[in-house]
Amino acid sequence: MRTPLVMGNWKLNGTKESVSTLVKGLEAAADAATNVEVAVCPPAIFIEQVAALTASNSIEFGAQDVSTNVAGAFTGETSPVMVKEFGAKYSLVGHSERRQYHNETDAVVAAKTVAIQENGLVPVICIGETLEERETDKTFNVVETQLKAVIDVAGIDALENSVIAYEPVWAIGTGKVATSEQAQEVHAHIRNWLKAQSEVVAEKVQILYGGSVKAASAKELFAQADIDGGLVGGAALLVEEFVGIIEGAK
Ligand code: PEP
Repeated sequence: MRTPLVMGNWKLNGTKESVSTLVKGLEAAADAATNVEVAVCPPAIFIEQVAALTASNSIEFGAQDVSTNVAGAFTGETSPVMVKEFGAKYSLVGHSERRQYHNETDAVVAAKTVAIQENGLVPVICIGETLEERETDKTFNVVETQLKAVIDVAGIDALENSVIAYEPVWAIGTGKVATSEQAQEVHAHIRNWLKAQSEVVAEKVQILYGGSVKAASAKELFAQADIDGGLVGGAALLVEEFVGIIEGAK
């Protein structure tokens, strides 16, 4: 069975004080949820602080994005090697905000996935359709195309040590959560599509749902056969909400 993973994406939020309060507030719930993995993705500048705050509890952490390059003249970038040095386990890759505001193409996402894995981190590959794509019945096609771009470069076996986050763009930060049926339909499609390429990968890979998950919607979403936890934005900044989401994955 796949272990559920509940991951917070803090985006561009936090102060030294709020980071400390948030992580300390999650600690007891994360440690008590022994069958759930809990992780947070702070802005890069807080990674060292989060590493210290999570050293003696079960909370894992990751980057929100990394460079394809490990070092050199790439102003403003964060290297996967640096992130790993501080003890991170994960890095998000291809979040829709990166695709939209930083022109990250499928090719960039594939290259970053390789860099993340080569440097000992687990990529959390974010995929998902826009509202227009959903309304024109392109959802399956979009998620397949986005994943195929990664598989073509990294190989299908790379997904054995990856996490996939299905995040319909229309549900991110909008308060419009996909229904559990809508989400499960896409998750099952992704898993079946992977199965045709590797049964091992399809069985093993965790597929998280992301898009306005709240404590109130988590349990029903996570009860779906192919939903293995959640990638959570807004609600991950609130201790009570995020604890409720962790409880929903138990
Ligand atoms: C996200 O940023 O990955 C996300 C799902 O955000 P929100 O939960 O706020 O929709």
